[in-house]
Amino acid sequence: MTEIVEYSWHQQAWHQVKTMQQQGRLPHALLISGIPGVGKRPFADRLVASLLCTQPDKDFNACGQCHSCQLLAAGSHPDHHQVSPEEAGKQIKVDQIRDLKQAQTLMPKVSRGKTVLITAADQMNISAFNSLLKLLEEPQPESVLILLSENSQQLPITIKSRCQTVVIATPDTEQALAWLQHTDMQFAEEEWLSLLKLSQGAPLAAMAAGEKGLQQSRQVMQDIALLMQAKANPVQMAAEWQQFDLKSVLYQIQNMMQTKIHQLLLAEDRVHDQILRQYWAIMDCISDTIKLISSQNNLNKILLIEDFMVTVMQHADQIRQLKETHG
Ligand SMILES: [Zn+2]
Repeated sequence: MTEIVEYSWHQQAWHQVKTMQQQGRLPHALLISGIPGVGKRPFADRLVASLLCTQPDKDFNACGQCHSCQLLAAGSHPDHHQVSPEEAGKQIKVDQIRDLKQAQTLMPKVSRGKTVLITAADQMNISAFNSLLKLLEEPQPESVLILLSENSQQLPITIKSRCQTVVIATPDTEQALAWLQHTDMQFAEEEWLSLLKLSQGAPLAAMAAGEKGLQQSRQVMQDIALLMQAKANPVQMAAEWQQFDLKSVLYQIQNMMQTKIHQLLLAEDRVHDQILRQYWAIMDCISDTIKLISSQNNLNKILLIEDFMVTVMQHADQIRQLKETHG
């Protein structure tokens, strides 16, 4: 069952696809990108429904009533194909793309055109990418390919250059908060703000983090304070952090450091400049660690976090010395 959901922060991206469709210049391939938790999948589902619907309204929304809409809701629309990794965390296989190519040669049966949704489009090996590239080079009339990706920088340029990118922007805090407060989850404003900080501001990710996210948030705040005071044991702490979603831990710390940097920027003087440099170095280390954690490589995550903590402690030590020297 696919339920069509419309999120307030999707308005701009929806306007973009609606305008292209209504002006008859919707490309054959779209790449929907955005950070985790902004609702790329619901956006794509809504788009597929509208493209296949036989009587969409003036805002390009599917009617929900026609034969096409009913078939799609039941998950049995013959003109829609979805390709996803067969197991979570695995890659899309070349055979899956070949099957798709075969299916694409058929005429639409119910709707005017056909749609293909490829989720986790960056999760493919080279031969699957090459097969997909051929599909993109020989577009079928009235057929739209929709690619979803959380790491669109990992997609080959050859693929990206053949797709029109639609970015689902992350809403600002106010808009995200307004939406979260209307969900049936009963968190206080401050708690939602904490959850948004570890989700890079993505509302659906904040919601998914929930109670466990709040526990994580509190623990990490305490732990960072200890690290900054050099009162932490990185070996023990790094082991403890493995229970958390490490990327969201790093996003939270990134957010804390950003706040600190903003405060320092407001107070202009030379000592602050030197302290500021130490905070920027910590920010660099956070970005590097996020990149390593996001890579496909099998890294020892405990060691990676230990290294991160040691680096933070070294910069914190420099900051303490600067403060002592200059009173
Ligand atoms: Zn319909």
